[in-house]
Amino acid sequence: MSFDSLGLNADILRAVEEQGYREPTPIQRQAIPVVLSGRDLMASAQTGTGKTAGFTLPLLQRLVNKQPHAGGRRPVRALILTPTRELAAQIGENVRDYSKYLDIRSLVVFGGVSINPQMMKLRSGVDVLVATPGRLLDLEHQNAVKLDQVEILVLDEADRMLDMGFIHDIRRVLAKLPARRQNLLFSATFSDDIKGLAEKLLHNPEEVSVARRNTASEQVTQYVHFVDKKRKRELLSQMIGEGNWQQVLVFTRTKHGANHLAEQLGKDGITAAAIHGNKSQGARTRALADFKNGGIRVLVATDIAARGLDIEELPHVVNYELPNVPEDYVHRIGRTGRAAATGQALSLVCVDEHKLLRDIERVLKREVPRMAIPGYEVDPSIPAEPIVNGRQQQRGGGRGNGGGQGQGQRRGGNGGASSERSNAPRRPSRPQGDGAAKPAGANARRRPARKPASA
Ligand code: AMP
Repeated sequence: MSFDSLGLNADILRAVEEQGYREPTPIQRQAIPVVLSGRDLMASAQTGTGKTAGFTLPLLQRLVNKQPHAGGRRPVRALILTPTRELAAQIGENVRDYSKYLDIRSLVVFGGVSINPQMMKLRSGVDVLVATPGRLLDLEHQNAVKLDQVEILVLDEADRMLDMGFIHDIRRVLAKLPARRQNLLFSATFSDDIKGLAEKLLHNPEEVSVARRNTASEQVTQYVHFVDKKRKRELLSQMIGEGNWQQVLVFTRTKHGANHLAEQLGKDGITAAAIHGNKSQGARTRALADFKNGGIRVLVATDIAARGLDIEELPHVVNYELPNVPEDYVHRIGRTGRAAATGQALSLVCVDEHKLLRDIERVLKREVPRMAIPGYEVDPSIPAEPIVNGRQQQRGGGRGNGGGQGQGQRRGGNGGASSERSNAPRRPSRPQGDGAAKPAGANARRRPARKPASA
């Protein structure tokens, strides 16, 4: 099947062709006709499946089908909400690429950078707005953007938005939109929370889904290495050195852990940078660019920062620490083995993490092969310790307590043990993904946006 048969116009097809896409991916084959028909859509697809073009191409087609209002400022006609800055930037790039031959203006807005240039650009009129929820609400509150002409709403990575505590912001955004509009909801998983959101948001939706990547992926070679916590860094440095690994994405559970490991690897002579929610947008963009162009060999990331990163043909992913949430393992290893490339995903597992590994293997429905490297045998006398989760410990250790954690998160931003994401199903605090940390609640909207941290 080719793109030609999907009902997209010649200008869009030309842009798609220039991207080098020969045929639509499964999610594109399913989603494009639904979106073109004007129906609401509930799509199960994760990053790497081509979902962005799956909603962007037909969205653009629908916008050009209908002439915009003549005269006056262009109203925002399509709104794409995403959980993180990186994802927003990537979607924005795609929208620009796909609309290059159309009379469509697009803009990306997210927190953590100065709001003024965004306000200026909005003033000249934008058809497609890609936004993280917090910054969008800031802009709306300052009358820099009106959302009452939105014809199409896309909620991308809706599961992650709920995980990150965006539900209240999403509700506030929805209240600003006209009642008559097309809604597209994309999510990698369909928890009861997502189903609840979908029920309220979507009208008679068409449901499409593509097989989850990587759960049974043959493209990714996964293996586990049991090793004492204290020797993980040494083993990692050795493997990178001996294997001559040139591009390695390493995951830690905490921001502090990411910083610390990047520093340590630097001391071992391995160029590395950390990327997480406490880094300024400039630093994150630079680190990602350096990593993509080979300037640094190792990018150490937390789950939230890495969400949605599209790094083509990444050969090595290392779980330096296993994630608290098994599904994050699947997301993490989804960074490798993309397209036709094969990849390796290595997990360094210490005695504290055996339960996390069991949970992951339950989700994968198989055991991840074990590998042993002589000289790194585990010391059986070391007892297992509970996984430290700063926010929950500060609150007395209760798991899944989602209440009032805005402060904890802000504190955690500086704390050594803070996790970027907890096991708690949801929390109402402001996520790092959307720019500067702010207090939860409506008052957050009334504060002027924070100046960007110096990059
Ligand atoms: P996404 O899931 O939207 O993040 O897309 C993942 C990657 O697939 C991006 O690098 C896209 O440029 C690429 N992509 C999207 N559609 C296609 C296609 N039809 N053929 C080849 N690559 C594609």
